[in-house]
Amino acid sequence: MDALVGIIGAGPAGISTAVQLRRYDVDSIVFERSDIGGLVRNAYLIENSMFFPGGIRGEDFVNLLREYVRKYGLRIIHADVKKVVKNGNFRIMADGREYEFKYLVVASGTYPRKLPYDGVKYHITEIDGFRDEILIVGGGDIALDYALSMSERARRVTVLYRSRIRALPALVRYVRKRGNIVIKKGEIKGIINKRDKKRVLTTTGVWEVDEVLAAIGRVPNIDMVKGIEDERLFIIGDAKNAPYRQTTMAIGDGIKAAMDIWRCENEDPCGDR
Ligand SMILES: Cc1cc2nc3c(=O)[nH]c(=O)nc-3n(C[C@H](O)[C@H](O)[C@H](O)COP(=O)(O)OP(=O)(O)OC[C@H]3O[C@@H](n4cnc5c(N)ncnc54)[C@H](O)[C@@H]3O)c2cc1C
Repeated sequence: MDALVGIIGAGPAGISTAVQLRRYDVDSIVFERSDIGGLVRNAYLIENSMFFPGGIRGEDFVNLLREYVRKYGLRIIHADVKKVVKNGNFRIMADGREYEFKYLVVASGTYPRKLPYDGVKYHITEIDGFRDEILIVGGGDIALDYALSMSERARRVTVLYRSRIRALPALVRYVRKRGNIVIKKGEIKGIINKRDKKRVLTTTGVWEVDEVLAAIGRVPNIDMVKGIEDERLFIIGDAKNAPYRQTTMAIGDGIKAAMDIWRCENEDPCGDR
């Protein structure tokens, strides 16, 4: 066996699992297909974590996670886990070889629900530099959070929502204070991708914008363990928390999974958790 525990995802849930396991002297290997930090790097300002009364920017939070990885010497393997096989233990093919674990923690988050048009982006990290006009599609927390971020990186930001604004009132207030954000009701009917602009056809008119950024829902990213049911498999964080997808919940899940694994190994049978 390569380590007692394999963890898929180096976002808040996966890193907190690995840190808590390390405090039990239990080794783990974390598989991450992208950068350490996960989805939270897109957050404008995290204000509900209790540890930062002044709030903390998503990127700064990611730097803290990196610091934990360094401090605890966590083993991170940069690989996209496509499939897990349960054959006695859990087996993962990555980096051209097979890894074997007694326990598996799936902290792989979510992927964005997509619009049926080409050229749409779904994360602010996909947009760099300054833009003239940005259209954000959606009326939830993520759409309004994106609007705040993009209002500092674009001349004008329009938020287009279909039925109603469902975001936190605090976020709506912040957005309304920004002079360069407009909120409109309407629906996209088509996008024509031109060389450096997008022509967006909507129920309220036609707009020329530089980018379309959509935040219309997220889907659990757990296909790699489809069909596997096992008491030694833990699905945690955003991958299972809808509609409570929050950083602190993901961190709490990670700590709990590590405590459960410790108990499974040392005290109670696994089924009792
Ligand atoms: C704009 C925005 C603002 C937000 N604001 C707040 C806020 O103010 N407060 C708050 O508490 N939360 C906020 N959140 C939510 C927060 O980002 C999530 O709750 C948190 O990131 C969930 O952590 P996680 O570890 O469960 O999943 P994620 O952060 O999604 O991490 C999953 C990780 O798994 C990796 N991965 C996925 N599949 C694989 C695979 N097959 N192989 C290898 N690696 C894989 C991904 O690359 C990713 O790094 C916000 C989110 C967004 C988008």
